[in-house]
Amino acid sequence: IRRVVVVGASLAGVRATETLRAQGFHGDIVLIGAESHLPYDRPPLSKQFLTGDWSADRLPLRPRSHYDDLEVDLRLGMAATGVDLQSGRVNLADGREILFDGLVIATGATPRTLRAEALAGVNVLRTLDDAVELRQSLLARDGARLVIIGGGFIGLEVAAAARSMDIHVTVVEAADRLLARVEDRQAGEMVEGLHREHGVEFRLGVGVSGVRGSGRVESVHLTDGSTLNADAVVVGIGATPAVHWLAGSGLRLEDGVVCDRACFAAPRVVAAGDVARWHDPRSGRLTRHEHWTNATEQASRAAANLLTGPDGAVPYTPVPYVWSDQYGLRLQTAGELDDSAEHRWEGNPDSPRFVTQHLTDGRLTGVVGMGMNREFIAHRRQLVAAHGTIDA
Ligand code: FAD
Repeated sequence: IRRVVVVGASLAGVRATETLRAQGFHGDIVLIGAESHLPYDRPPLSKQFLTGDWSADRLPLRPRSHYDDLEVDLRLGMAATGVDLQSGRVNLADGREILFDGLVIATGATPRTLRAEALAGVNVLRTLDDAVELRQSLLARDGARLVIIGGGFIGLEVAAAARSMDIHVTVVEAADRLLARVEDRQAGEMVEGLHREHGVEFRLGVGVSGVRGSGRVESVHLTDGSTLNADAVVVGIGATPAVHWLAGSGLRLEDGVVCDRACFAAPRVVAAGDVARWHDPRSGRLTRHEHWTNATEQASRAAANLLTGPDGAVPYTPVPYVWSDQYGLRLQTAGELDDSAEHRWEGNPDSPRFVTQHLTDGRLTGVVGMGMNREFIAHRRQLVAAHGTIDA
């Protein structure tokens, strides 16, 4: 391999370039990113940056000099528009092409929308530009009323940030509980209690039928016929993998770039991060994670595998881990959570601090905790140790 092109200049893309160099790759590396900002970290966007505690200059993943030191040709503000696998070419939005011997796809995901975003004050939160816009919406008037559509991580982190800014917050969630896709029922209930203590109102088990206003958002209409007045709305209903630019490439695109156990989507093409749906050898299922730790771990594995080639490649077998910070407490999950597993709960029922082990046939398969970091870390270690390696 003489030239590797990495498409997507964010967490997974940057980590892939670093791994290529760490593995002794001396050829050309071109890192292409659609956003014009220096690659930055997203978690603070719904936390310290939204509250104003951090300014934008704390967000870059690495200083600009880092890319020079690694001899990475960083091309920002430039989207890739297509790829030709036969000839090994990536097409760029300005009409130019770049040749590659190896390709890393790390284009992440884009937020799902409700077609109401044309109204001012209706926001999604994925990019730094989104966060700047959302902050302006929240600060637009004193005593603003914010309606958050979606009770997932992003929606709840925005809720916590907005409460710290004294903004009135209502969260609307179609499921009958919070964090339904990612946490167990008990954790969802603990988080709900925490938010209620901080003054957040909830409308659970009800959908949104419309978002209205003239120019600027004024109200959110719910499927039970009720209406919420709103000065700002955040739509936090999940994200879809950014595979649009790969249409017609011949790669298999089904809720992400479909990859084998070692993250190969084609013989000299790997994918990593939120965009990658790889064959998880442990579960035997195609799996896609949208979490920070996965983006880094998968990018390292995928980039190393790209250099070895499919024959010597090592399967990617993570123990998934995700965290979320709300009201100064850290909610953390490792492994797989399953409501039907046996639950071993530790904590104080009167406080939001707890840790729960999930056991399947007596074996630790997952752990979730809030506030009890020491206990959580011990269980996570145990989980990783028990996980071991698997036959390739
Ligand atoms: P992304 O970070 O989405 O980056 C993909 C990049 O590719 C983008 O810059 C995009 O512009 C670019 N791109 C897309 N298409 C093209 C194209 N055609 N050509 C060129 N470039 C392109 N995870 C946690 O575990 N804990 C948290 O607390 C947490 N908080 C979060 C808060 C927010 C607000 C968000 C949005 C995410 C959060 N995450 C968190 C998730 C974590 O940030 C993501 O999993 C991670 O950013 C994924 O990295 P990635 O590189 O795969 O994709």
